[in-house]
Amino acid sequence: MSHVFPRHSKSTLLTATGGDGCYLIDSTGRRILDCGDAAVSCLGHSNARVIKAVQDQVAKIAFAHTGFMTSEPAEALADLLIEKAPGDLDRVYFVSGGSEATEAAIKLARQYYLETGQPERRRVIARKQSYHGNTLGALSAGGNAWRRTQFAPLLIEMTHIAPCYEYAEKPEGESAHAYGQRVANELEEEILRLGPETVMAFMAEPVVGATLGAVTAVDGYYKRIREICDQYGVLLILDEVMCGMGRTGHLFACDYDGIAPDILCIAKGLGAGYQPIGAMLCTRHIYDSIAQGSGFFQHGHTYVGHPVATAAALAVVQELTEHDLPTRAGVMGDRLQSALELAFGQHPHIGDIRGRGLFRGLEIVASRETKAPFDPSLGLAGKIKKLALENGLICYPMSGTRDGKNGDHILLAPPFIIEDAQIDELVEKLSKTLKTVIPESTP
Ligand code: PLP
Repeated sequence: MSHVFPRHSKSTLLTATGGDGCYLIDSTGRRILDCGDAAVSCLGHSNARVIKAVQDQVAKIAFAHTGFMTSEPAEALADLLIEKAPGDLDRVYFVSGGSEATEAAIKLARQYYLETGQPERRRVIARKQSYHGNTLGALSAGGNAWRRTQFAPLLIEMTHIAPCYEYAEKPEGESAHAYGQRVANELEEEILRLGPETVMAFMAEPVVGATLGAVTAVDGYYKRIREICDQYGVLLILDEVMCGMGRTGHLFACDYDGIAPDILCIAKGLGAGYQPIGAMLCTRHIYDSIAQGSGFFQHGHTYVGHPVATAAALAVVQELTEHDLPTRAGVMGDRLQSALELAFGQHPHIGDIRGRGLFRGLEIVASRETKAPFDPSLGLAGKIKKLALENGLICYPMSGTRDGKNGDHILLAPPFIIEDAQIDELVEKLSKTLKTVIPESTP
């Protein structure tokens, strides 16, 4: 028995011993199709270029403290990211994962307003049913009630507006555009309610991942959000930890919306799982205000800009951009959507099949007519996860019912190298799983 402290101590975990393209291999030699528990492995599990980059960098220099030195891969990666990044994003602060990136964003926003003489700006507005990470600051921004509840007394006070969730929340008769504008305007109402002089940032995921299963905003929503932020001097922080790095068919998810944030958080696909790495990108204006002010961003971690992690990520971004893999994610994502619609489009308990690129979600409902969720005590998400794994598939089922509102969801985020045959395999394994867990005749 190992002494590892597993997150899910009541389930038996497999031991991963190998990886081959879209497949993970366990200690019994079984091949499991990895369709993205956490939307990390965008290049699959055996990318030769990234493996070599890691090996070469370890042999050269594995660690040099960034209080003294930067490194060649960190510099090259920052330059490449900024060359591709939208808007005025100009500086990259490296961290080790998604939660560190969103924490960094919140702290940078605060420091920006302190250093520009507006100390009263300290409030962050985020959205309900969002997830921004598991450290206390990131958890405070997240609007996912069940994840927050037990830690609530320790969290920073932040307020949450409605997400843009057309399937579940748009009233019949309202156009998608009008709905998008109306929910975006909730941001303005919240800024006015709190007092614009007290609000420092609004944080959102361009495509919601870990709480709602690939919910895209309606067209025009983010343009209106950008306008409101500009009007009230509120920084726009986009959290692309899950949906960024090509997953939605664009290198940065916000490219689809035609807007740029003041601060952008990325992780997961940035290292593609080969190394733990995240990053926070900010505009030159924000960077300058600190560089010309205190000159010190108070968010140091020992491993920021780690040479091996940045070498891996540099190779990942080179792979993504040189082979135009975001476009491939868009094309294969459309195929996946069609295959899912063919398999589940008429299923009485699949209410919505959605997403963008290779970031797809299915919403499970008791009734397609009312969109009512199943009784949470059925624990559907957990059952789907377990049985899918037994059937040789890793997917990410989540229980929307834990927030007492929506149905359960299944998030699918396969590697961008997925082929047609593996899309068929994914759909077949998912069908087999759902046939057992929620037969079409389930009352
Ligand atoms: N932000 C979003 C949108 C995420 O989906 C996640 C993780 O799922 C995080 C932040 C936190 O990232 P990490 O688990 O790397 O800390």
